[in-house]
Amino acid sequence: MALVNEHFLKLPNNYLFADVAKKVNAFKVSYPNAKVISLGIGDVTQPLCPAVAEAMHKAVDEMTTPDGFHGYGPEQGYLFLREAIIKNDFLPRGIHLEASEIFINDGAKSDTGNIQELVRWDNSIGVTDPIYPVYIDSNIMIGRSGEIKDGKWSNVTYLPCTAENNFVPELPDRRVDIIYLCYPNNPTGTVISKEELQKWGNYALKNDTLIFYDAAYEAYIQDPDIPHSIYEIKGARKVAIEFHSYSKTAGFTGVRCGYTVVPKELTASTLSGERIALNPLWYRRQCTKFNGTSYISQRAAEAIYTPEGKKQVKETISYYMDNARMMRETLTGLGLEVFGGENAPYIWLKTPDKENSWRFFERMLYNAHVVCTPGVGFGPSGEGYVRFTAFGSHEDCAEAMERLKKWI
Ligand SMILES: *Cc1c(COP(=O)(O)O)cnc(C)c1O
Repeated sequence: MALVNEHFLKLPNNYLFADVAKKVNAFKVSYPNAKVISLGIGDVTQPLCPAVAEAMHKAVDEMTTPDGFHGYGPEQGYLFLREAIIKNDFLPRGIHLEASEIFINDGAKSDTGNIQELVRWDNSIGVTDPIYPVYIDSNIMIGRSGEIKDGKWSNVTYLPCTAENNFVPELPDRRVDIIYLCYPNNPTGTVISKEELQKWGNYALKNDTLIFYDAAYEAYIQDPDIPHSIYEIKGARKVAIEFHSYSKTAGFTGVRCGYTVVPKELTASTLSGERIALNPLWYRRQCTKFNGTSYISQRAAEAIYTPEGKKQVKETISYYMDNARMMRETLTGLGLEVFGGENAPYIWLKTPDKENSWRFFERMLYNAHVVCTPGVGFGPSGEGYVRFTAFGSHEDCAEAMERLKKWI
């Protein structure tokens, strides 16, 4: 008899975006002529930039010749891309990494979900709350999260990020083995200062805590004082693994490519206290379970680092950040409390009069025909908030804001 992994049965079966879609469809059945604008999607909308497209065409042409054909590539990714990453994403910030510390992935979701395989099932975890659901769900699947009570998992330490603490999470009052951090943050769109991030680095060094740092939105940072990488922080190489993605940076949600940094100095302990480097462990894991990102995707990613690529990617990010600015201005002008949207493509709105997330979502859908994402779907501290994304077109964003002005 094959026994099922019953931890899967504990997963919340209501997937947030499926619930949103269900409610939007129900609305459309009743009001077939209404034009619904979605500011809820977490996917980008602007097409790939010319530099990327050109690199992909070229890579395809190469693949059709005997000399240029590429089959299985190195599991860790091609050296040309890893070197471009080191040279462009890290060296200018004074961070020196070796190519063997970079692992090309097929997007940050896989690696942020898979990385927990490197540590024992009985480690305790901590997350800022609200948060990208992958971190907790991937731990539920292997039985690390405990049981759910009142919307919280018993073995997960939740660090609330709300308007009350200005979205600066407090260090946990008990020690945790692993902390997930995501900055700029999805869903709140807020960022962390170097000083605050150093506090986390110090906490991790002192408590022998491992930090999983998700930097998927670092390309959206506008303020020069905000760190783009946790390795800008002293001591971070000993305690942190960092995840990057080209999905939001350059519209790679359908192309699939990103990378993970596992520094050589980073170690975790065996039960008997022996220190084990995680870099060779992750390499071993990838060689067994991952056969590399496509050559074409890696050439596409490399093109982002050319002068044209950099310029074009920046233009698209500015396009989204213009949306964010417009949304912030309108919502603030309406007397609403909004956060984020200055160094991230997300706006986090506090609902008026503490209305619950789903109720506000439905009222906005039925009265303004605008869709957002209910904040509670990202964790208990998200209750009373909703998320707007800046990934739509200017036209849709402007139209949605006009409707909100009439409605509110
Ligand atoms: C979108 C996103 C990712 C990246 O996903 P990909 O798999 O690279 O497309 C990672 N982390 C967060 C927080 C995200 O929002």
